[in-house]
Amino acid sequence: MALRPIPLLVVLAVLLLPLAVPAEAAPRLPHPPPTSPVAVGFGGAVSSVDADATAAGLQVLRRGGNAVDAAVATAAALGVTEPFSSGFGGGGFLVYYNARTGNVYTVDGRETAPAAAREDLFLEDGRAIPFEEAVTSGLSVGVPGTPATWQTALDRFGTMRLPDVLRPAERIAERGFVVDEHFRSMVQDNAARFAAFPATRDLFMPGGRPPAVGTVLRNPDLANTYRLFGKHGPDVLYRGEIGRDVVRAVQNPPVDPAAARIVRPGRMTGDDLRAYRTVLREPTRIRYRGLDIYGMGPPSSGGTTVGEALNILERFDLRAMDDTQYLHHFLEASKLAFADRNRWVGDPAFSDVPTRELLTQHFADARSCLLRPDRALEAPVAPGDPHSPTPCGKSGPAVPKPDEGDSTTHLTVADSQGNVVAYTLTIEQTGGSGIVVPGRGFLLNNELTDFNSAPITPGVPDPNLPGPGKRPRSSMSPTIVLQHGRPLLAVGSPGGTTIITTVLQVLTGRLDRGLPLVDAIAAPRASQRNSTVTSAEADFGAGGERAALEALGHRFKVRSSIGLATGVERLPDGRWVAAAERTRGGGGAAGVVFPTWWPPGHASSTR
Ligand code: GLU
Repeated sequence: MALRPIPLLVVLAVLLLPLAVPAEAAPRLPHPPPTSPVAVGFGGAVSSVDADATAAGLQVLRRGGNAVDAAVATAAALGVTEPFSSGFGGGGFLVYYNARTGNVYTVDGRETAPAAAREDLFLEDGRAIPFEEAVTSGLSVGVPGTPATWQTALDRFGTMRLPDVLRPAERIAERGFVVDEHFRSMVQDNAARFAAFPATRDLFMPGGRPPAVGTVLRNPDLANTYRLFGKHGPDVLYRGEIGRDVVRAVQNPPVDPAAARIVRPGRMTGDDLRAYRTVLREPTRIRYRGLDIYGMGPPSSGGTTVGEALNILERFDLRAMDDTQYLHHFLEASKLAFADRNRWVGDPAFSDVPTRELLTQHFADARSCLLRPDRALEAPVAPGDPHSPTPCGKSGPAVPKPDEGDSTTHLTVADSQGNVVAYTLTIEQTGGSGIVVPGRGFLLNNELTDFNSAPITPGVPDPNLPGPGKRPRSSMSPTIVLQHGRPLLAVGSPGGTTIITTVLQVLTGRLDRGLPLVDAIAAPRASQRNSTVTSAEADFGAGGERAALEALGHRFKVRSSIGLATGVERLPDGRWVAAAERTRGGGGAAGVVFPTWWPPGHASSTR
């Protein structure tokens, strides 16, 4: 029997049928948006660790929002789908390139210690409280800076109103999102302490267990928090009803009495909330092989440490080296820069941080004098003196790497005007303090454990001890690179102190080794932070370089995964590449507004 052609009207009716069904009759179940580690095209780009969050940012760009509007929308969505890494109860640093003025601005939204905090915040009877107990406590909670950061960024640089950029996130929280393996494993890793707080348990462990992969998780309390925030602005936290709940949860942690767990109360008050301010700071800036590298200054150590390491590396031709020598120089520059970071960087409102001096080429040259091609420096290395650099000189004993957490998230956005945002935000450890504010749907940070509880090296001044109103030192390194005054790329990563080495490795991988951005992000990572042993992923140096590095004196300890980077890059023809992780954390989510064909040869070096 001959087949009869299907009439066009029937085809159209079938295609349009799903659109014609009323929403009530066929409620749309949430499904994970498609995700890709790389995308290229016009109209702007968003890269984050999560597909729902990237989709929220792209939605705002499509509606005519600029990079700042989209960055806030993406961050708000991450607060829903990645609530263990960042959110309303945390802080962060936003770096912004304004295409109209050609300037780079930064917003410091770091959490602050309460006025009652003293140097002995984490000491009892003169001894440090066990780190895990300090983390899961009211003591570690800093005044959240994220809500104020979003409002500041929109007021100063955005084009849309707060409720409008919050709406996509509000909808995800209301409707729910699909739990993936990354989410489930984060709950699993924290199950014991989450179970101790009924509000946390009920939200993230429905039925008392981590949610199964593929199930839908809703957070109506957070949807309501975002609604209130959109309506009343940051005052709802800093002077209003949500603030009162935060203070109550900090002062009387809502722990299940049956949990038999010590949860120390904190000292945050309503006055501390009222006193909170974001700070618009000068970015750090260095020149690197003809490019301008902008980063976040103190209290983050990101800009100074990435910048110093690049200044050290600038004296060497990384492009001409074999892989072993390139990696050796990367590890050694990072070791030296960390020696200086640990000694000199803290909150500039409390100590005289030599930001400018740390970033001079003169200082980097004095430090690079120690770097030998045939031998790894014995760690920990002593710091140099940025105030009066002398070749190969040192200033007092070494200050080894202190303990710091390992979570956070980074997002990168560009818009069609050429504005760029690199934004890293956090609640410190995965799951922060573990305390969900009852009825509000978000976790409180444990950022104050980024302070050192006591001087790392007795007798050496430590710029990172707790203090009233003080901001703990961070490693977050949102970075924007300009070429001839126009954006070339932007990157960042989570990962505690490894953030700095991840950003450094991605930058040198892209700028010096000519890897496409997505491959520079995917490259196996190692992290040397002035300690005797370098952390490395299992496949780092698998082509024989690891053995060759060991022969130079490097020692490695394998850890599962380092960082979750995202970035954007502007191609010479004006298109944007968005790039994210191929596999780490289950793979990141890169997207552009108008995708185009992937160009061959985009990998070629930029200079
Ligand atoms: N709290 C850390 C910092 O500010 C970030 C935590 C992390 O990335 O794991 O440096």
